[in-house]
Amino acid sequence: MVSTLVQPDLFGEQTKTVQAKGKRKRHTSIHTTHKTLTWSYGGGTQSIALALLVASGKLPKPDIVVFCDTSEEASETWDYHNTYIVPLLASVGVTVEIAPHNLATVNLYGHNGDLLLPAYTETGKFPGYCSSEWKKYVFRRYVRSKGVKECVTWLGMSTDEVERIKPSDVQWQQYAWPLAFDVPMSRIECRQLILNAGYPEPPKSCCWDCPHRRNPQWLRLKRYYPQDFSKAVKRDKEIRERDPLHAVYLHESRKPLDEVDFTQPDIPSLFGDENGGCQSGYCMV
Ligand code: SF4
Repeated sequence: MVSTLVQPDLFGEQTKTVQAKGKRKRHTSIHTTHKTLTWSYGGGTQSIALALLVASGKLPKPDIVVFCDTSEEASETWDYHNTYIVPLLASVGVTVEIAPHNLATVNLYGHNGDLLLPAYTETGKFPGYCSSEWKKYVFRRYVRSKGVKECVTWLGMSTDEVERIKPSDVQWQQYAWPLAFDVPMSRIECRQLILNAGYPEPPKSCCWDCPHRRNPQWLRLKRYYPQDFSKAVKRDKEIRERDPLHAVYLHESRKPLDEVDFTQPDIPSLFGDENGGCQSGYCMV
């Protein structure tokens, strides 16, 4: 039951211990007096955990919360967000604002014609610029359009993702990682926090055509969200048709998506995709 949104026993025993450690390590950047406190909400496990921490008063309320709409975010993420997170945050007066995809200046291909998705080639994988173009820059344009001059931005990486942490590349925006430093929690602990609070299994947030998906995620998309899966199959064909070598794929097997057996174990990834793979810090959280 999720109608009682701020629960006194939000943290279980184990998480209280982690929270105590977090106090010793408190990272000052989430508490700021002169900078706007913003949060890049990603719709995944860590963002949902952050929402619970905000709703329970364990973290301060951000001034602006932004969910960048890539126009390709999986239906499952939106369903969970609208059903559970919007009312949860609304109960403490926090609104999640949606930054529209038209704030991006490029869509599937960059200005130089390169595919932005981190798709597989015959011998490797594209670096993937979609996260920066569709999320990082869109977030910045959105908060700038709201008059923000300087801000701290929460990103949702957890303690198991510290290798993904990178400082901001612009002076006016400083990053903070509450789940890595302030209330240190791993992805597993975030999930447990969510389940302990009475919420359903959180979705792994990513686009329906994201090549970082692993087989269990593809299988789930195919079984429960067939419309999203159909769009992914179409996208997979589309990028191959446009590729000069006709050899780019959404799936690591380098097979057309509609020919892949997702019940097979994943190939051990060479690209660090187990935890989402996206390096910008704006995706999969
Ligand atoms: S979820 Fe995947 S496809 Fe979507 S923006 Fe992030 S890296 Fe790109």
